[in-house]
Amino acid sequence: QAKKAGNAPVQWFYNALEAELRYRCEMEMALRDAVAKDALEPYYEQQVDLDSGEIRGFEMLARWHSSQFGQVPPDIFIAIAEETGLIDRLSEQLIAKALRHAASWAPHLTLSVNISPVQMRDPWFAQKLLKMLVAANFPPQRLEVEITESGLHQNIAMAHALVTSLRNQGIKVTLDDFGTGYSSLGQLRRLPFDRIKIDRSFVMAMGEDANCRVIVEAIALLGRGLGLPVIAEGIETPAMLDSLRGMGDFKGQGYLYGRPQNATTTHALLAERGLLIDAPEQAEEPAP
Ligand code: C2E
Ligand code: MG
Ligand code: MG
Ligand code: MG
Repeated sequence: QAKKAGNAPVQWFYNALEAELRYRCEMEMALRDAVAKDALEPYYEQQVDLDSGEIRGFEMLARWHSSQFGQVPPDIFIAIAEETGLIDRLSEQLIAKALRHAASWAPHLTLSVNISPVQMRDPWFAQKLLKMLVAANFPPQRLEVEITESGLHQNIAMAHALVTSLRNQGIKVTLDDFGTGYSSLGQLRRLPFDRIKIDRSFVMAMGEDANCRVIVEAIALLGRGLGLPVIAEGIETPAMLDSLRGMGDFKGQGYLYGRPQNATTTHALLAERGLLIDAPEQAEEPAP
């Protein structure tokens, strides 16, 4: 009797672990199926000029609605895709869709895409991306690739090769989530980025935490000094926008401007603002 009671926590632990593993395994199968069916959807979040409020472009964010699991956050399914080798195909499908959508946007608008550290290990990644751009007739100058800081320290030589070849093709490279990584300043020194994106945790805490304000200000200064445009993410309130505006001329994004939207809603928003190419002939024109 006593022995049984003593084992109960262990048994409970094994049951919980087993349930967890089963859940994870089922989610992995569902994701595999979604990728096979090309069922993931690109959503778009506005990136605006903070002074004028004008739209400058959009960041594509992956969305997965599973019939079994509902809406699964990208932080979760991207991690699964990275572990299971699905990431390349998943990302390629989403970028291809996004390029098709963005082809109808006004020619000054940019498209930002996130890429995973796992993709940076693929020596053909830059070439694949270029091929997709050519196929979609989308100028590389309008594409921005966002690389998160946390993935960079794993293999700096490979990251350097990738960033360089992307930039040689005219693609812009953004250091995403700046300030949260392993060695933020070190990354800036080692890799030739085109811009930096201040992590939303700093932006969102500016109101309550004076230190965060100082950090954001310092990043703005750093960007100016290095000649790197700065973009702020996570702008949720007019107060956050006000503080950022006082720090200089940069772009930003956040729920204040709108939540990420699907292609149809984004298209409607752009139509309303006169930011679509309507004549198909115009799509053939070379970019400025
Ligand atoms: P991220 O690239 O840093 O994207 C910004 C995240 O912040 C997005 O979360 C966005 O929806 C959210 N966000 C934007 N504005 C606000 C705001 O004002 N307030 C708050 N609370 N959140 C805001 P999401 O869509 O859940 O994506 C999470 C992360 O997943 C992304 O972070 C990115 O690292 C990754 N991810 C998303 N799509 C892809 C993809 O296609 N490929 C890869 N490799 N990663 C992706
Ligand atoms: Mg991003
Ligand atoms: Mg970010
Ligand atoms: Mg992030």
